[in-house]
Amino acid sequence: MPIPPQPRTFLCNVCDWHGTTIPLSDCLVMGVDWYSHCPKCSNETLECRAATRTEIMRTRLNDFLQRRHD
Ligand SMILES: [Zn+2]
Repeated sequence: MPIPPQPRTFLCNVCDWHGTTIPLSDCLVMGVDWYSHCPKCSNETLECRAATRTEIMRTRLNDFLQRRHD
């Protein structure tokens, strides 16, 4: 049985970048559902933890607003 993908927050401790991903399927897309390095400073040792409810809501809202402006 497939494990549903979990929303995750990635944190860069070099430049304070952070991003939350909410995978829509278990096919993870690099840079969308998953970060292997910081998009700002290319630091490759990102911290990764389960996203909080606030972060999930904010990410959903941002996705919604971006789509509306396309
Ligand atoms: Zn960084």
